[in-house]
Amino acid sequence: MNLNEYQEKAITSKIYDDSVAIPYVVLGICGETSELYEKIVEAIGYGDDADLDLLSKETADIIWYLAAWAEENGLMLEDIAKMSDSESNPTIADMMDDLIKYSGQIAEYSKKALRDDFADISKGVYPASKMNKTNVSVANLLSTVKSVVTFFGLDFELALQQNINKLASRAARGVLGGSGDVR
Ligand SMILES: [Mg+2]
Repeated sequence: MNLNEYQEKAITSKIYDDSVAIPYVVLGICGETSELYEKIVEAIGYGDDADLDLLSKETADIIWYLAAWAEENGLMLEDIAKMSDSESNPTIADMMDDLIKYSGQIAEYSKKALRDDFADISKGVYPASKMNKTNVSVANLLSTVKSVVTFFGLDFELALQQNINKLASRAARGVLGGSGDVR
């Protein structure tokens, strides 16, 4: 499953109102990034006893919101991914720094867009003046998540497929709007 196939499937589980799309998606990116960060800290601490299944799930949770970001802006995540200018071969410490840095950039740019360009955003149009640099941060966050997946020996496409399966299961049970299956 490539990123575009994932995006098309993922967005069918969208449950937020269009009027809050940008702030909702950006909050989702930041929230899920902090959850992955927590799982990385635990995985490093537990070593061989680390629960990498949970870590894999958190990587896919972030990708859901990055796919939603692309969707809300009429873009495809595969195209945004090509905009990455992050450094190659990061260490796990670099990756942890980058998770904070890039999710923070997305939050900061979007905050300014909400402040300065609310008329556009309320019509579902993210300001062009901030779109490019926000997309670069989205691309870099995506690249960092992929690096985390590789570092822990996980399978990125499998994580995406499992995420789609989980969402389909939750939709069938009528619990898409809940607090998740793992607490
Ligand atoms: Mg999560």
